[in-house]
Amino acid sequence: MTELQPTTQPHPAEGRRSQIFQQLRLEKVTRSFGGTIALSGLDLTIQSGEFIALLGPSGCGKSTALNCVAGLLPLTDGSIWLDQQRIDLMPPERRGFGMVFQNYALFPHLTVRRNVGFGLVMRRMSKKEVRRRVDAALDLVQLKAFGDQLPGRLSGGQQQRVAIARAIVVEPSVILMDEPLSNLDAKLRLEMRTEIKRIHRDLQRTTIYVTHDQDEALSLADRIVVLNEGRTLQIGSPEELYTRPANLQVARFMGYRNILELDLERVEQQRVFLAGPDFRLEGIACAELAGRRAFAAIRPDDFLVTINEAGSRPTGARNSILGQAEIVEYCGRDYLVDIATSSGLLLHARTQRRVEPGARVHLEVPEERVLAFSAA
Ligand code: ATP
Repeated sequence: MTELQPTTQPHPAEGRRSQIFQQLRLEKVTRSFGGTIALSGLDLTIQSGEFIALLGPSGCGKSTALNCVAGLLPLTDGSIWLDQQRIDLMPPERRGFGMVFQNYALFPHLTVRRNVGFGLVMRRMSKKEVRRRVDAALDLVQLKAFGDQLPGRLSGGQQQRVAIARAIVVEPSVILMDEPLSNLDAKLRLEMRTEIKRIHRDLQRTTIYVTHDQDEALSLADRIVVLNEGRTLQIGSPEELYTRPANLQVARFMGYRNILELDLERVEQQRVFLAGPDFRLEGIACAELAGRRAFAAIRPDDFLVTINEAGSRPTGARNSILGQAEIVEYCGRDYLVDIATSSGLLLHARTQRRVEPGARVHLEVPEERVLAFSAA
């Protein structure tokens, strides 16, 4: 059993922040580089123990946000607070946060034990206490047998575990992780994802995790912050983002691969009626809709795909689309099928039933899974 405690005990080292806090607050945190605004007015209140993912495409400002919290980058504007104490003017070492980087950043000439214990030795902790804590941290990341190895002899996943052990051994109040899994192959990534989830469950440490991978964010985080070009697009639980993205950009990021610009027929409260060249849809309005056009967003797995063996003709019924399978990709659990409608519109659908390229197919989609956004 690990001796690292899951609660927020004060750290014995002098000059470091107590780990007891209720909220970490980012208020209008802004960072520019020359004339470029890398992060614009990020407002975020994180509760103690929460796991927050910063998600977005390359260059959206995720690392900038993390480095501002870590104290590696001064803010251009805004402030950061641990409860009533302003911390954005403090040097990084006084914030008492632990960091895990994409490239592990281990000392190659030090053994695993000495890498993990480095921060404790720097804090002049007794040898006995260093040994006790390093043992507990290595136990937690399941690397006890590797303590005397040099990092170069470990796999990427094991090296990242060492980096995690090194971050948590100092009992940080907040753990900051910058794309920690992006150097690992697909299988190791999945394993380490579970490992990070387990460590967070055991320690309940407040964690901010940067990633561009929506699956990683959805599976790990209590809440996700979606960023684009330095701006906050949405903050919400994985379920909220997945089922109710706030706008088209978030929808795209959440796997709504079918984004269709259609005629807006009418809106009745939340219900929206849309028309394409050879089908009609009913969906849910996710924004104020006006004008003649709107976008429908549909995830590939929300289509029900059946083979149209009889070669039926369109009935005009809403949310019923006929087409022809073009590209069929086998994905193990199911097939991803590109389907062309008679007007040439290309749709993406997932189905567990095998579909042959060229087959005539019928697609249906429930109204609540068609999300409509403004074309403005
Ligand atoms: P990635 O996933 O590729 O790491 P990111 O979302 O973490 O991207 P940031 O590294 O935060 O993005 O960068 C945000 C913007 O700020 C980018 O346009 C980047 O070019 C710019 N930027 C970041 N660091 C610097 C710097 N030191 N000097 C100048 N511009 C920078």
